[in-house]
Amino acid sequence: MNIALIAHDKRKDTLVNFIKNNEQFFSEQTLFSTGTTGLRVMENTNLQITRFQSGPLGGDQEVGALVAKGQMDAIFFFRDPLTSQPHEPDVNALLRLCDVYHIPVATNTESANAILYYLKNHKK
Ligand code: PGA
Repeated sequence: MNIALIAHDKRKDTLVNFIKNNEQFFSEQTLFSTGTTGLRVMENTNLQITRFQSGPLGGDQEVGALVAKGQMDAIFFFRDPLTSQPHEPDVNALLRLCDVYHIPVATNTESANAILYYLKNHKK
């Protein structure tokens, strides 16, 4: 499966921990990420990730392009709900595209665990 990983700065540690706890599963997928998120995950795991631009520089839109092309199966996007983001329009655009194309998106650890369970058991 093609899976994208994105985390806002205050949620990067949380995402890295989630990925580390499930590294075996993610090692069997094709991974994409925004720039800094991918760097942090790769520094802390043995995973290989195709990194796009940093989110504020267009990375979310690059992930969105894969969604629009039908090349994305799920997104783990740990958002910071308490800090306004300069690229909020890009974030909304990505989430909107996920709804257009029915792509599962996890925005916190609990929804991530739920989607992970779904992916492991219902998608191949
Ligand atoms: P980053 O971008 O991984 O480059 O920090 C994430 C975001 O803020 O959307």
